Amino acid sequence: MERVIKKYYPNAETGREITRSCINKLIDKHGFDTQKTILGTSVCSDEIVRTSTNFRDYIDHKNPFSLGGLGGFPFTGTTGFGAFAAHIPDNGYAIIEYGPHIGVSKTGTIGNVQRMGQTLETTCCGALKASVNDILKNQAGTKDSDLDYQQWKLEEQLLPAAEDIGNHEEPLVAATDVMYQQIDKRIKELLKKSAGSFKNTTVVLIGGIIINTDFELPDWFDLREFSVEIF
Ligand SMILES: [Zn+2]
Repeated sequence: MERVIKKYYPNAETGREITRSCINKLIDKHGFDTQKTILGTSVCSDEIVRTSTNFRDYIDHKNPFSLGGLGGFPFTGTTGFGAFAAHIPDNGYAIIEYGPHIGVSKTGTIGNVQRMGQTLETTCCGALKASVNDILKNQAGTKDSDLDYQQWKLEEQLLPAAEDIGNHEEPLVAATDVMYQQIDKRIKELLKKSAGSFKNTTVVLIGGIIINTDFELPDWFDLREFSVEIF
């Protein structure tokens, strides 16, 4: 399993290692006060994503604001960003963690994990894998834009890269990379648009690819963005 993770994500570390090093940097270099810090996440709705990092263990405000939806895309938009900004403690700090996720099971299978209480492996990220299957079968863009809005939107984000995804030896790895870029771009756009709401706060963007593994094993994180902005 680790060999497969390192093949596609050579810089990945366990989520706990990443969390600790980010928190240390935020306190030592950027003066973050963990009593005045809240967490916002734009990660997939999948429950196994919650344990991939542990920022909440280090900060007083334990409950994260959920900015994302399927695949980790920031579906709550400018309204979500405005609300999140309004919840930051006075002259306080915000951590925004974001990115898609991908499973790598003990058997080394990409796009699968074994979940607690189950004997068989299931898909991870199921939403992204379903999008990739649609792309490979030339059925992308056929989802119901009302009843299945988030999935429809994910496919819309991946479609321009359909050829690259299809040509990759592991199409899900390619799709996850594309999704990361789309999420990263959108998060920065939303932050810029809502800059006024973040006045007098300090925000750190922590972006990357979450690598989930079987339930009894640690999750990994491939850190791709760490930037601090004072508003
Ligand atoms: Zn997912």
